[in-house]
Amino acid sequence: MIRFVGVIRIVIFSTGGAGLAKRSPKQSHSAPLGAGRKFHQRPDDAYCARFRAHIIKHGTPVTFPGLAWTKPDPDDPPKPLTDFATPETLRKRVPKSPCPICSPHSPKYYEGKLCWSAGDKRVRAIGHECGHDFYDGDTYADEVREFEEKAAEDAARGYLQDAISKLPEHVILARWSMRDFDALFAAREDLVATVTKRASQELLRALDAQGRLSVEIETGARDGQGRRVAMRQSVTSRVSVAGLKVRAKARNELTELALLVGGAVVLRRHAHPLWRDDVSQAEAVAAMDREQVVALERLCRTFEDTRNCVDQEVADLRALLSATNLTELSRWGTHLHCPTPFWISHGPSGVTAGKGPHTGSAGRRIRNLPYS
Ligand SMILES: [Zn+2]
Repeated sequence: MIRFVGVIRIVIFSTGGAGLAKRSPKQSHSAPLGAGRKFHQRPDDAYCARFRAHIIKHGTPVTFPGLAWTKPDPDDPPKPLTDFATPETLRKRVPKSPCPICSPHSPKYYEGKLCWSAGDKRVRAIGHECGHDFYDGDTYADEVREFEEKAAEDAARGYLQDAISKLPEHVILARWSMRDFDALFAAREDLVATVTKRASQELLRALDAQGRLSVEIETGARDGQGRRVAMRQSVTSRVSVAGLKVRAKARNELTELALLVGGAVVLRRHAHPLWRDDVSQAEAVAAMDREQVVALERLCRTFEDTRNCVDQEVADLRALLSATNLTELSRWGTHLHCPTPFWISHGPSGVTAGKGPHTGSAGRRIRNLPYS
């Protein structure tokens, strides 16, 4: 009796032990390739969220329970559920995933799509470039396109839900930005024309690594080949010159965008067809189809980007034309060694400037300066 039990124990230990190791879920990433479980319904968003959380934490779909790693039927093109990618920070530690279609036994990809097949009711994680040639005809390509367009639509609706309520205010702010830009830009143009375009180009070249303006001063010495030796000397404190490079391009784009966005969204009480019924903006967006909502999102994003760009340019122009900055620019322009002399001065009648050395001549008054 005792001997018999002992034999049984030995049998369990030697064969059952090895078998258990293969089936144990903890070991599954070394030999995972199971048939998975059946999903009679298309898995929902909560399932996809759990899957993505798993990928963010573990970096691989291989250890996510229930997935099928068997080769699918080419007549059964699946529906993509979610994109996923191994986080960059995990890629050194986590091996690539096998692809049930093209590479079921060896690592293949870091980016894939989680898919549900209506035919065999399985969920598979397949490589993101995979499947187009495997499934018959264009069926899978159509599913992927539908998935991506739906994702773009969802993203657009999510963006607009928040952005649409701020748009009226932002269009008004854009109009103020354009007004500021126009005044400052005209003053900048007037200043550049007065001190000469060449002087403003030389000025940009005279910038040192610390953002100060420098001049070249000959030392009187000559080098071994008889060339004159010159040294650069910084003659101002830090200056703002980004405003010299501003062009009117973004401002002109903003005009058009503000008209488009304003026409579509803000001026709804002005009988624009989109808003003729004066429904709430959120309702109007909800009523738009996929194409319209994606187009409006793109328009709004471009509008916001351009608005930010113009705001930055306004700030650059303002910094360029500030009284303290103009004083520093003039310090450079009136320096004995400035290659393109000019002067800028503040007086009771505003800011005046002139080219050449400051000889006491009247110069020109710079118009449109915010403080003149
Ligand atoms: Zn593949």
